[in-house]
Amino acid sequence: MTEPLVIFDLDDTLIDYAQAADRALASFAHQRGLGESGVQFLRDVNAGTLTVHEAWQLIGEHFLLPESADELARSVAATLPDHAVAFEGAVEGLNSLREAGWRTALLSNGSPSVQLTKVRATGMEELFDAVLICDPGGTRKPDPTVFEDIAVRAGGGLRNSWMVGDSLTSDIGGGQAAGLTTLWISHGRILPDHGPQPDHVVSNISAAFQILLKEGPTS
Ligand SMILES: [Mg+2]
Repeated sequence: MTEPLVIFDLDDTLIDYAQAADRALASFAHQRGLGESGVQFLRDVNAGTLTVHEAWQLIGEHFLLPESADELARSVAATLPDHAVAFEGAVEGLNSLREAGWRTALLSNGSPSVQLTKVRATGMEELFDAVLICDPGGTRKPDPTVFEDIAVRAGGGLRNSWMVGDSLTSDIGGGQAAGLTTLWISHGRILPDHGPQPDHVVSNISAAFQILLKEGPTS
């Protein structure tokens, strides 16, 4: 019998996107010699209601930076993947699942080079039997064929497989359409009563690992 498979989403499932963005901002401020007050200014501006363009326009004017708002936004966004941070317990959880006999896979929508940089930056590159990054131009979640594709790459079919993710549309809706048991990471959000209804709801990735390790494969 093939070992059970669990497929994970990446951003805001295994990786803390907000923390990576914050680290990228802090790194930029330090590189430009803006000091701790500069870090805080950047955080405050980016946490506000301004658009990305407006935020960087304000930052550029405040610190008399030579680049345009768009150039500043682009240069900081380009460093974000290198600052990727795994949620607490994510790496340990993947290791525990694999030790318990699960196969693990990563299925993410996004630019392959960006997403793979995040995987390497968080030390997770050896922790998956298969990785599939779906380019914006091609077939991607929630299309059920990409779930079938990754199951084949991971050495089996979708029987007894699970999908874990934070997006109700891409991860839960797509996973259900492919016949998977689904686990939604809510991050405290309320599950709407319309739309995809996950089999399990947890608030963070550590709780997801606890359920997977306890429940094991579905039959
Ligand atoms: Mg996500």
